[in-house]
Amino acid sequence: TNDSPVPVYIRAMVDYCPLQDTIIPCPDAGVAFGRGDLLEVVDQTDGHWWQARKLPCTTSCAGLIPSVSMLKSKQREQWWSQPLQVHTCIRPSGFRRSFRLWRRTSYRRRRQSCYSCSPNSSALANPYEEVVTYQRPPQENHRLIVLVGASGVGVNELRKRLIKLNPSTFQGAVPHTTRPIREGEETGREYHFVTKELFEYLVCNHRFLEYGEYKGHLYGTSSDSVAEVLKRGQMCIIDVEPHSIPALRTKTLKPYIVFIKPPSLESLKETRKDARVLTKFTVDRPFTEEDFAELQETSQLMESKYRQFFDSVLVNDDLQDACIQLCSIIQQAQEEPQWIPASWRA
Ligand code: 5GP
Repeated sequence: TNDSPVPVYIRAMVDYCPLQDTIIPCPDAGVAFGRGDLLEVVDQTDGHWWQARKLPCTTSCAGLIPSVSMLKSKQREQWWSQPLQVHTCIRPSGFRRSFRLWRRTSYRRRRQSCYSCSPNSSALANPYEEVVTYQRPPQENHRLIVLVGASGVGVNELRKRLIKLNPSTFQGAVPHTTRPIREGEETGREYHFVTKELFEYLVCNHRFLEYGEYKGHLYGTSSDSVAEVLKRGQMCIIDVEPHSIPALRTKTLKPYIVFIKPPSLESLKETRKDARVLTKFTVDRPFTEEDFAELQETSQLMESKYRQFFDSVLVNDDLQDACIQLCSIIQQAQEEPQWIPASWRA
């Protein structure tokens, strides 16, 4: 009889380096992993240290990884002994702020001063996510595709171009807004134009997958707008701020998340030389060196914080090429089995 336990597959939601771990029994036997890595856990009998190997498998030998309870107590310890540092965080508005966090300030004060850098409560609750492979049935064409990327990388242009390229397959969700209707616009086409009161009512009733403010008006994508597109058997393409991702990752929506990355600095200068940057305070102006540097920095921060949620990463060098690549990424996602959270199983 085969008594070896059935392996469990997990996705790491945190980074771990055994060589920096002072309590691992044998650092050389540890398996280093980063957020988003897939691990095959072959033994969970020990309460503190599990045996696992990183996928795709390069070696048949399993090593040690900390158990969930071990990681949680470790995270709590690290959080309390966090050294003095300057945190740069990504705010929903896309603006970067620096916050000086002082050692031994209370947990509440730290959370208030910098929510982005505070320990993600879901990561604390779930340092690993159990995953299973999922093969989409061939008749299931509808799907939610979520594009995420730093402001200025071209996420919105990519989304619009994809829809224009094949409108019978791809559609965007019609957002809600409180801004006044403009000439030539139609309610239900560009936006659902609603009052501030109705918008707030929808927010309170958790009807928005994401929402934000722009130039004094509220904008948001409702789950009903997404469901409408999916019901028609189409793919719904939306772009959101990364902090909305956890709320989108549900069994019903099963989103496929693509991170859009900027190319190298040289390539940015070349490909965006005629592009205009839209800012909150000026109408528009050409990109500057500082804009490019900020774009790359914001993008790197975003990737390091959220990469555990990305199903695919795409570099937007040339918009046309990126659009073609995105089409093939989506096609591949429809045809090939994927790792999805075990909680999304039917
Ligand atoms: P406009 O009012 O010119 O149609 O859109 C202005 C801006 O509103 C967009 O560039 C975008 O920043 C924001 N916006 C449009 N739709 C949405 C949405 O569904 N959600 C959020 N959060 N912002 C949106």
